[in-house]
Amino acid sequence: MINIVLFGKPGAGKGTQAQFLKEKYNLTHISTGDVFRYNLSNNTELGQLAKTYMESGELVPDSLTIKMLEDEVDNHPNTSGFLFDGFPRTIAQAEALDKFLVKKGWEVTATIGLEANDDVLVQRILERGKTSGRVDDQDEAKIRTRYAEYNQKTSPLINYYSNQNKYYPIDGIGTIACITSRLSEVIDQL
Ligand code: ADP
Repeated sequence: MINIVLFGKPGAGKGTQAQFLKEKYNLTHISTGDVFRYNLSNNTELGQLAKTYMESGELVPDSLTIKMLEDEVDNHPNTSGFLFDGFPRTIAQAEALDKFLVKKGWEVTATIGLEANDDVLVQRILERGKTSGRVDDQDEAKIRTRYAEYNQKTSPLINYYSNQNKYYPIDGIGTIACITSRLSEVIDQL
């Protein structure tokens, strides 16, 4: 069982890299952003609760997000590992994930951070917004809200995982293939 947390600011390339890594290492990919968007477009109760937060670029409250994540994990009892993308994003979520995995006899194996500077990332998101159809990608004010949320609530996780010797930063600038191979180097030595 290996459980990898893919970590990085909005636009860092988590989703893109997850597509390669899940195939290569046979992992179950859980993207909380994708699960929320699925619920939004199907207008489920969860989607309705998450909508205003997501559309303004704020984090959805922990209680909702944690419950959703746990349900997703429970839906894959026979997997050989998870690739968490977009979760955890707060200390409360990280603590909940640790507790939840420990109960199953599992743990977070490693958190890999895709690092890149904000200017590059904002450009990437605006570019993606032209085709993604995501309202939170098309407006600089919403993108700025996502960065403010990241800085305030998510960045403390770097220390949280570093203190457990589980944080592996990698350079997130380069070609997609190049970054996949940097990620693979980390995973291969776990
Ligand atoms: P990003 O490109 O900003 O990394 P995601 O696709 O991962 O975007 O997430 C989109 C939105 O979904 C976030 O802005 C937030 O509203 C909500 N969301 C996703 N994951 C979480 C989480 N772990 N906790 C709270 N909200 C989340």
